[in-house]
Amino acid sequence: MNVPFVDLKMQYQSIKNEIDIAFENVITETAFIGGKYVNQFEKDFATLYGVKHCISCANGTDSLFIIMKMLGIGNGDEVITVANSWISSSETISQTAARPVFVDIDKDFYSINEKLIEEKITAKTKAIMPVHLQGQMCEIEVIKSICDKHNLFLIEDCAQSHLSEYKNIRAGLRGIAASFSFYPGKNLGAYGDAGCIITNDDALAEKCKMYARHGALIKHQHKIEGINSRLDGLQAAILSAKLPHLIKWTNQRITNANYYDEVLKDINEIVTPKLRPNAKHTYHLYVIRAKKRDALANYLKEKGIETAVHYPIPLPMMEAYKYLNYSEKDFPIANQYKDEILSLPMFPELTNAQMNYVAATIKAFYSK
Ligand SMILES: *Cc1c(COP(=O)(O)O)cnc(C)c1O
Repeated sequence: MNVPFVDLKMQYQSIKNEIDIAFENVITETAFIGGKYVNQFEKDFATLYGVKHCISCANGTDSLFIIMKMLGIGNGDEVITVANSWISSSETISQTAARPVFVDIDKDFYSINEKLIEEKITAKTKAIMPVHLQGQMCEIEVIKSICDKHNLFLIEDCAQSHLSEYKNIRAGLRGIAASFSFYPGKNLGAYGDAGCIITNDDALAEKCKMYARHGALIKHQHKIEGINSRLDGLQAAILSAKLPHLIKWTNQRITNANYYDEVLKDINEIVTPKLRPNAKHTYHLYVIRAKKRDALANYLKEKGIETAVHYPIPLPMMEAYKYLNYSEKDFPIANQYKDEILSLPMFPELTNAQMNYVAATIKAFYSK
């Protein structure tokens, strides 16, 4: 049996009609950049989140950068983020000319350890940018109160947490603004690059929109110099076609994760994901910790099961951040877990038979 890590073909087949119509409409109307489909998706996404503004942009990296840049973060400033994430979370801080400051991860939930944040705050700190990694939110209310106490911006990286919740409030609604990615493999994925910003702050929304569109809200009237970070019409129409399915797909991920929990529970060599109290995990990734991780991953691969590691090197240990002079002991948990974490196949259409096979193969590996 083959179990892919994600199966985007299966999802396309299940909504082929809607996607094909969306595609054809954009092409026949040549609504390639801006225009009706982009406006519609922004409206659809803002409605889903109950926010005043959704500003679409080219990808979920630009959206982080644009938020920080338009908040005035730049040279001489520091932004606090997490040691284990995709590099977008820190490289966008550097893009503004500010300095990323990393915090170790929580031993149970794998996202930023909120208890270690305050000791990293200095006079230069301007913002905290937690990442709701793997689909499970951080201890966001504690982080929010730290931001309020120290007068810092809270910017949420929601690239992996579409529809995730903490105390029934979704990821992306507690800070000044939040960033989403619609990279194809994300829980809501386009058929190319795409991203957006959500915010209830009118002034910030207008700045972000202007900056992403060459600094002009009206053609040829450039109030500032900006960048070119636009969502294209094809991606917008595809995202609008997929959006009505997002709740169902998310529930399927949760059902699958519960099934994994059940079939994996007797394997002592692995640790299955722990749920944070009051959080709704949406399982962008289903991450276990495993003894002999690399050997297990190779064995699964031989048996037709694709896995991945998110992420094999903590950000502060990357060559790109050598200049910050961090050492492994500054991030003990991230450095320990990098050799233990393994992301198992996870997507809405995953079948029980596939998950049974994954579980049986893991058992077979440890009983060799
Ligand atoms: C995917 C991702 C991003 C960036 O998204 P792109 O759309 O690929 O630019 C940012 N942060 C995290 C945590 C991500 O997983």
